[in-house]
Amino acid sequence: MEGSEELRETLVGMRRELDMLQTETAHANVLLRALDALLCVDGDADPFAGVFSDLLPIFKASHAIVLIQEDNDESLLECAASNAPALVGSRWKSSSLIAKVLSGRIVTTLSTEGTEDWPPEADACLERTQSALYLPLAVRDRRGLLMLLRTHGCAGFDRSHVTLARKFSVLASHAFAARNAHQTEAESTRLKHLADQLRVSQEALAFRANHDQLTGLPNRARIQELVDEALARKRPGEKLALAFIDLDDFKRVNDFHGHAAGDALLKGVADRIRAEVRKTDVLGRISGDEFVIVLDPFDEEEEIVALVGRIRDRLQAPFEIEGFAVDGTGSIGVAFFPAHGRDYETLRRNADTAMYQAKLASKGSVEFFSQELGRKLADRISLERRLRAAFDDREFKCVLQAKVDIHTREIVGFEALVRWVDRHGVVHAPGYFLKSANELGLLDGIANIVLDELIAKLPSLDACFGDGLRYSINVSPAQAAKPVFMRALAEKISATGRTRNFMLELTEESLLAAGVFQSEILPLLREKGIGISIDDFGTGYSSLSTLADITADELKFDRSFIRAIHQRPRSQSILRAVESLSAALGIDLVAEGIETDLENDYLKNKTRIRVGQGYLFHAPQFIDDIIAEHATLVSVAEPDSEHRATGVLR
Ligand code: C2E
Ligand code: MG
Ligand code: MG
Repeated sequence: MEGSEELRETLVGMRRELDMLQTETAHANVLLRALDALLCVDGDADPFAGVFSDLLPIFKASHAIVLIQEDNDESLLECAASNAPALVGSRWKSSSLIAKVLSGRIVTTLSTEGTEDWPPEADACLERTQSALYLPLAVRDRRGLLMLLRTHGCAGFDRSHVTLARKFSVLASHAFAARNAHQTEAESTRLKHLADQLRVSQEALAFRANHDQLTGLPNRARIQELVDEALARKRPGEKLALAFIDLDDFKRVNDFHGHAAGDALLKGVADRIRAEVRKTDVLGRISGDEFVIVLDPFDEEEEIVALVGRIRDRLQAPFEIEGFAVDGTGSIGVAFFPAHGRDYETLRRNADTAMYQAKLASKGSVEFFSQELGRKLADRISLERRLRAAFDDREFKCVLQAKVDIHTREIVGFEALVRWVDRHGVVHAPGYFLKSANELGLLDGIANIVLDELIAKLPSLDACFGDGLRYSINVSPAQAAKPVFMRALAEKISATGRTRNFMLELTEESLLAAGVFQSEILPLLREKGIGISIDDFGTGYSSLSTLADITADELKFDRSFIRAIHQRPRSQSILRAVESLSAALGIDLVAEGIETDLENDYLKNKTRIRVGQGYLFHAPQFIDDIIAEHATLVSVAEPDSEHRATGVLR
């Protein structure tokens, strides 16, 4: 989760930077055009007219007004140029705001502020609630300012506007001086020099907008353009392949060796791939550790299979970075035009899907897209979309499965399990949606929905089964590792005032992981008196010896051992060992997934296990159904029962 969050932030950051660069490039172009217009001063023609018409849309401005201090009275300014002809020649009184601008400050504000003394000409055509940007201008020995008024209703000016405006005001100062002085040769040279500088920086901007700074490779935007151009030139029967490469465990390199090593690895990978591709192929880096290769042209797909295989092999050898051997393998997915898509986005998405599949199969391998893979992806996307909507509509419900005394069948507790009841009434088990919900970051919210329902119905459950039962809540390893989530969960349980009625089911993985869980969360749960159960015991990585390190109240022996236990000596001996160890440690043992009488008989007769859970006794049921069923059972079987406080499943 944290990894994908970080990746998303990086992507959003890169996107913002790219957008900014593209905006800056567009602005630089406008500036160049404006400069050209100013350089072509033709007799008495007002160069500002053309410049303003270029400039105003960029700034989303309705008016541009150039005010110059009068010769004989510095407290007065004359409008020397404006896109509104009525304003030219109007006389403005200086104000404290105008004085600030004249002394060299750039100011953005609402036009009402500091401009109380607008001339009547201005009041006739301007609205006073427009945002205004004031820029200082220097006209030889006189000072002046350029005032831009935002189109009415548009939000204020932003930083990119101020940057562009700053450049423009320098330009305008020169042009204005030139116009007044009938453009001396020296000034003309200065202007041309400025134009050259701008052109160079515009070219640099264009390069930056199209290339990745670190590797110098074309970036996402450029690759997309190149592919679109190449596809547009394709004639019937011609092909193209797009390979998507994602480095394996790149985050670990960054975390372990530092960002400088990460950068060095990316450059090294780029070099190796570049050495393998042909002259006509294009390699690009489209985000953090993702590369794309446009493979074009080729006749037979086998050529691409061989080429991509060579790239994969080249990345197998470790890189030597800062004295360490660092792995830089990549998982590769390939999609072909036209079979797998006719535009960049579709091809990239399908190559990405194939890459994802390659990663699942075995890191550092190659996978080619197929329609079957496409269907899987479509299913995943559809599930994710429905899950998001389901979460918004709170379509998750709590079911309970009883834990019983295997001898008497008396209920000793319940395990809370989540179900998704979709809008068509179909009930989905967690296996169908939990993984996706976790990836989408919905799992914590779902856990809260389930717990809230359980807590709300606790009084009704008490009325059926008494208030002595323990309710188990499942906590995933990812959740267990999040102190904020775990503290909130513990608080919510505490707030019921009944912590002794609750137990958290955690896997061995969660319990054994070193870190905040061990140092902070476990002691907190203990202090509050919330029980701890080790779920699915025997399926994790821990061994019997590590059990001694865990402080738990209950251990649930996984159902894979219980299945046909009466016939499986190996499971029997493992169970015996776990049994004696948990007895020595004072941990209750629960057998999970008891489905048959034969299994139950074995447990009853050959072990000291008291508590079991399984379809033989009780399938998970919605809370309301359990309560309704219990009421019927009690009223039919024992109309005035004294045993309402205990439930017995038959
Ligand atoms: P689990 O915690 O081991 O829960 C027991 C699972 O075994 C449940 O599946 C239950 O329906 C099933 N089961 C119970 N008795 C039998 C039996 O006799 N035979 C067989 N074959 N299965 C039996 P379910 O409800 O599909 O849940 C699957 C897993 O999903 C749970 O395994 C748990 O790890 C997870 N889970 C369920 N609800 C939640 C939740 O609210 N939060 C979290 N984090 N995980 C949950
Ligand atoms: Mg469980
Ligand atoms: Mg379990």
